[in-house]
Amino acid sequence: MSRRLPVIGILGGGQLARMLALAAAPLGVRCSVVDGSADACAGQLAPLRVADWRDLASLEQFAAAVDVVTFDFENVPAATAEWLRQRVPVYPSPEALAVAQDRISEKMLFCSIGLDTPDFAAVSTRAELDAAVARIGAPAILKTRRLGYDGKGQFRLRGAADVDAAWQALGAQATPHGLVLEAFVPFTRELSVLAVRGRDGEFRTWPLTQNWHHQGILALSHAPAEVAPELAALAVQTARALAEKLDYVGVFALELFEHQGRLLGNEMAPRVHNSGHWTIEGAVASQFENHVRAVLGLPLGATTLRAPSLMFNWIGALPEPVAAALSLDDVHWHDYGKEAWADRKVGHATLACADGERLLARAQSLAQALGRETQLAPALPALRASAVSGG
Ligand code: AMP
Repeated sequence: MSRRLPVIGILGGGQLARMLALAAAPLGVRCSVVDGSADACAGQLAPLRVADWRDLASLEQFAAAVDVVTFDFENVPAATAEWLRQRVPVYPSPEALAVAQDRISEKMLFCSIGLDTPDFAAVSTRAELDAAVARIGAPAILKTRRLGYDGKGQFRLRGAADVDAAWQALGAQATPHGLVLEAFVPFTRELSVLAVRGRDGEFRTWPLTQNWHHQGILALSHAPAEVAPELAALAVQTARALAEKLDYVGVFALELFEHQGRLLGNEMAPRVHNSGHWTIEGAVASQFENHVRAVLGLPLGATTLRAPSLMFNWIGALPEPVAAALSLDDVHWHDYGKEAWADRKVGHATLACADGERLLARAQSLAQALGRETQLAPALPALRASAVSGG
């Protein structure tokens, strides 16, 4: 009898599914992917079923062919996830997915575990927007409660005079799901906690990551972030409380703002996350490997740092010349095999170096080789600080 390898079914066939498939292979685990698009990039590495989330006949066949289901995309309808759970284990749970799909329920969850958030108000009419701006003040950000990602579905209000424009931009999405107005936080920095929880409740986190966004899209991630030990401990404790409250299984990211020495919860991603891509080369076990282990009920791998790391995200198109990047030591190149188009995540590069001083030098060489000095610039103070502290 031939040996049957475990199969993880992944809803969504983007780069996250692709990197999950790459991490699963050495463990003798196969992945199988469902996506609405025939050229979903995970399909280059794993069998791809092209189907809509509501195509239950196709999902029935999919469920019958996999051992467990997980997600590369958090906006899979919670009803689809629940339907699948009647047939096959689904991790993270449809409940965890549902909470993270709605910015208001996510914020209520944060508050319930003692994590403050930026001041916010639910908005579903123009009058409620006026009232929310009057109470919260400006600057503020109006966001769709659901389906927003990478800064999409957001409008920044500089003052009360922008209310008309904000309503024009997002008012049509106020029903049925609603909007949320958030105070704009002039944060010191953005951090994320990458965490994993196994089926048996074992919980681990990777070293804290500092992130820089450009126009709402992640541009750079640096780990380990230089953070006061009390703040780092608080971030981990908060992520643990969140995971336990949701009885979470798998990897998730908790995005935080550091502001006036406090941590504020921005959002959680119930899946492997862009700010954890550095763990592929920078940590003993990557977020992808540990997600595979967690959803299959295998022991978790070590989340300890292997090397201080910096990840550059490539948005829209890969920078050129690629050969210049490949010729530099410590550069790990990831091309997702996608067509280039505006605002699309098409690849990333991670520098994983022996120490902070070398990381700073290599980051400058890579940015220069690819004409990406402007992308790197916001991270230079943090990289210099780590170089000095020996991080
Ligand atoms: P989000 O999709 O909510 O994570 O927003 C994308 C990015 O926009 C965040 O990572 C921040 O850089 C910025 N942002 C979102 N909400 C706020 C806020 N309330 N105050 C300041 N910046 C924000």
